[in-house]
Amino acid sequence: MRRLLRVNLKKKTYAWEELNSTYRKYAGHGLITSILFNEMDPKADALGPENKLIIATGLLSGTPFPNANRVSIGAKSPLTGGIKEANSGGTAAKVLAQMGIAAVVFEDAADDWTTVKVTKDGATFESASALVGKGNYDILNTYNKDYASVISIGQAGEKLAKSSAISVGTSDGHPRMAARGGIGAVMGSKKLKLVLIDDTGAGKVEIPADKKDVFRENVRAMSKAIMDFPMTGGLKALGTAVLVNLVDQMGCAPTKNFRYGRCEGHEKLSGEYMMELSQKRPNFVMTHKCSDGCLVSCSNILTDEQGNLLCASVEYETLALVGTNCCITDLDAVAKINYICNDVGVDTMEVGCALAICMDAGLLAWGDGDAAVKLASEMKEGTEKGSMLIDGAQATGEKLGVSRIPTVKRQALAGYDPRFLKGTGVTYATSPMGADHTSGNIIPTPDGDYNPIAQTGQGPVSTFVQRHNTAVDCMGFCLFPYLVCCAVPALYQHINTCAGIMLGEDVSENYFIELGADVINMELKFNERAGITKADDKLPDFFYSEKLDTCDQVFDVDTKEIEAVHDR
Ligand code: SF4
Repeated sequence: MRRLLRVNLKKKTYAWEELNSTYRKYAGHGLITSILFNEMDPKADALGPENKLIIATGLLSGTPFPNANRVSIGAKSPLTGGIKEANSGGTAAKVLAQMGIAAVVFEDAADDWTTVKVTKDGATFESASALVGKGNYDILNTYNKDYASVISIGQAGEKLAKSSAISVGTSDGHPRMAARGGIGAVMGSKKLKLVLIDDTGAGKVEIPADKKDVFRENVRAMSKAIMDFPMTGGLKALGTAVLVNLVDQMGCAPTKNFRYGRCEGHEKLSGEYMMELSQKRPNFVMTHKCSDGCLVSCSNILTDEQGNLLCASVEYETLALVGTNCCITDLDAVAKINYICNDVGVDTMEVGCALAICMDAGLLAWGDGDAAVKLASEMKEGTEKGSMLIDGAQATGEKLGVSRIPTVKRQALAGYDPRFLKGTGVTYATSPMGADHTSGNIIPTPDGDYNPIAQTGQGPVSTFVQRHNTAVDCMGFCLFPYLVCCAVPALYQHINTCAGIMLGEDVSENYFIELGADVINMELKFNERAGITKADDKLPDFFYSEKLDTCDQVFDVDTKEIEAVHDR
């Protein structure tokens, strides 16, 4: 039985709640959206007590279904002003699901810094005053051995910074970040520094006895499909850093604050280069799981020449936005900045774009990794410049008077130039989340017939992918099972069958796309009431007027096609 645990931080009380008929069909991302849509005034201050911080588990989290233990954390975003779901690896989804918890809903705000311990019996409250000022690594090192899951904010969340993130620890003590939209600031506004989950006495996720065999068969078939999928090998070997060379070859690697599509020296940031280093550097790991139940292990642990930890994990988006976009091709410098971001608790994509804006403003030279590390470390020190960076790209651009700010709805773009990947550009423009690749990144495959630079046809593709990706987050999946299903659509039946078993009802063939559309619709209505409309569905001006050197293209998808994305 999936339940909500509502925690009132002001009163220091909690209550268990069965999922009502409205919420029963949702999980993960969708449950967050449904709760915010039904219970919250969209005009309420994102950093006020009316906002709700929700940690939700996917419908298939905690089950044996592969790659299904990513956690969704959401709230009204202080960055975009709209609804926000940020997704992370770590231990939380599996552990909470196995405790029968569909979501923990944090309401109101504590008077003083608080730690909440969640157990199978409810929640207890302790002072977190001794933890104030501590970074996420310090906290994880202290608590990870004694708790099944550790969820915390660093200094950025405490300061209510607009790009602050929430750390969710892995079982071996590395922070993974629910990074986007400044949700760490929502946790900070509630004076909630730390959530510890004690899973003592937790059972397993219940699968009805008469359905266990069917569930198992579908898990087996999906697992085999994932392992046989050609892309699995590349990601297993090189991680998401496999994209560095591929995106550069396509000519859409963000370079010099999105001026160019290729970056000289990018090879030194690539998965192939990491593989070389892993042969030479002690403790350097190329295959690491962000969460239990993963069959792919696309994460990594980067170390220096002596084998000391630089950062785990360094992902493509960071390599692109802190790396190529700043013309920094020193992998160690990027990893050091990533470590600082994880510790302070900020979104590396915001910081990468903000650093490039600082370079545009002349605060440091393009490609100067050492200077960038020094500036990033000011985030921890709390200097004026550091405080500017933790508020993200938009705030940094506005403060420095730089007009070239690559954001949509105030959220920084991901590591793909939308003048080449125009479908991704449509997603950036129209996603209720603001510029967000996980909402619907559309990359051509070598044997496919999708044309990324075509002026027409991008809208329907983006609609389709946005709906599917939203449903992916409702299951607790990383994108892997979905990518495999894209290649072989017949595989959806395995997801549908297992989802139906968990819901206790058969679901239609179109379950995934209908679920995604339903959730996005609620988000659009919430956002509209919050003041975000179709007029905000646009990219920064320079993408419409400056041609990208590699493909001689501007972003020229017809406005009507963009307006129709969510009307289908
Ligand atoms: S494939 Fe990568 S993102 Fe997905 S669950 Fe595994 S480690 Fe995490």
